[in-house]
Amino acid sequence: MRYILSVLAAMVLASLSGQNAFSTANHGSYGAMRYDPTAASGSCLLNQIKTDQQAQALLTYYNIRTPGSTSAERISLANGIFQASALYGGRFEPLTNITVKYSSRSGYSRYLSQSRTIDLNRCNKAGGACGDASNTNVARILHELGHPFGHARLTEDETYYDRFGTQLKGCYPTGYSDDSTIENTAEVFSAFLTHPDKLKNGSPACQRAYNFLSTQVFRSNGRLASCEMQERQQLLAAVQGQRRNVNYTSVQTFQQIFPPRARQPSGVTAAASPAQYLQNASSGVDTSE
Ligand SMILES: [Zn+2]
Repeated sequence: MRYILSVLAAMVLASLSGQNAFSTANHGSYGAMRYDPTAASGSCLLNQIKTDQQAQALLTYYNIRTPGSTSAERISLANGIFQASALYGGRFEPLTNITVKYSSRSGYSRYLSQSRTIDLNRCNKAGGACGDASNTNVARILHELGHPFGHARLTEDETYYDRFGTQLKGCYPTGYSDDSTIENTAEVFSAFLTHPDKLKNGSPACQRAYNFLSTQVFRSNGRLASCEMQERQQLLAAVQGQRRNVNYTSVQTFQQIFPPRARQPSGVTAAASPAQYLQNASSGVDTSE
């Protein structure tokens, strides 16, 4: 039995160690999560999605359309979705029914809440940096996904944007003090998934944000968001349960490991049902670069 367990642990270790190659120029103090190499490379994620078939199965399950995307971009996006699902212990409804449009236009990437569409522009606003690194940067795509998260409802009367603009105000994981609650919410969301230690070991406000996201948003697998290998192994084991050699190639597999979940996080009195999550709290365009 002990032998079998150690073999399993070794397999988990092997599957966790695969990382996307990523390099970035030295930006000194990072102005955004996408410039943080740990966050951008996805090296803290479970990284279970390796092939386009796996990516497409998960994206189909979430009803996420990705016009213009490359295979590498779909895999990066799907690994971000996988991480949110693993920590949520089910399909994370705020990220369902989204269109992510990939284009080589330059200009700000943005989220259009009415149509639930992310315009992910590969080039930066100066028209440069159109290369591979910026469009598979998982911290960047998770920042954009932080916008539909922000619009989602925590309770009938309160969105996540509302909460991050009040009780959870003041966490700046990248050290860049942005007064926009909208952009700040997206940054914290991305940090929690791609480099959680930035919050856990950060300022008191960031620790509050980490605790909130851990206990009231993503808590259901009983694991904490962490970059530590042991925590990640335990999270993956919680996702896979009794299943051995999970092959993430079909929608049915994802239905089983990330079932739709009506269960409510503790401390939330007014239930936010999956349907309520999808109602837009407000319409508009969330712009960011
Ligand atoms: Zn943004």
